[in-house]
Amino acid sequence: MPLARRPPKILCVGRNYAAHAAELGSEVPSEPLIFLKPPSAVIGDGDPIVVPGWAGRIEHEGEIGIVIGRPARNATVDDAWTHVAGIVPLNDVTARELQRRDGQWSRAKGFDSFCPIGTPVAATGKDPQVLEVVTRVNGVVRQHGRASAMAFPISYLIAYCSTFTTLEEGDVLATGTPEGVGPLVPGDVVEVEIPGVGCLANPVIADNAPGPEPRRKA
Ligand code: MG
Repeated sequence: MPLARRPPKILCVGRNYAAHAAELGSEVPSEPLIFLKPPSAVIGDGDPIVVPGWAGRIEHEGEIGIVIGRPARNATVDDAWTHVAGIVPLNDVTARELQRRDGQWSRAKGFDSFCPIGTPVAATGKDPQVLEVVTRVNGVVRQHGRASAMAFPISYLIAYCSTFTTLEEGDVLATGTPEGVGPLVPGDVVEVEIPGVGCLANPVIADNAPGPEPRRKA
């Protein structure tokens, strides 16, 4: 099934696996922690992740992505999956030091190329609770998560998001990353695979732009 090159919006969930929250020194929140990545960050399978040298440590976050088919607002948990058209591997690439420094995550999560998304497959007949996601860097497994280990299941996340925003056709929901996040550096190839669904692979290249200029007085 096709995916819009620029989905209308990309909703993401933070700290949805207890072991990942712990590795970042956090706990699973009492309700889902939702943030957005800009559509301009999306790249496809094979496209390069461009790592700015000034931005510090850059990390992969392999995730199970879902693509909305039928619009949803105030969906119930029981009906949530009927709004899903596709399942897709996604990499929520993150500038970890900027994430900590900024507090708000728009910059750390929103660089151009920081949202590789694969090719979706139809969700029909799939059980979201049995999905798994595996992340490899240069062929070495870094992350292996199971949807059954999520703090908030996928159907709950869809229903939860639909209480504040209309989920539109083509919107993408990134359902959180399991433990094992780690650095990406130029020359790496990072793969995110959802077994039975598909694999997303992206090379990492450097961007030598200087970054923000020092603050100037008015
Ligand atoms: Mg993430």
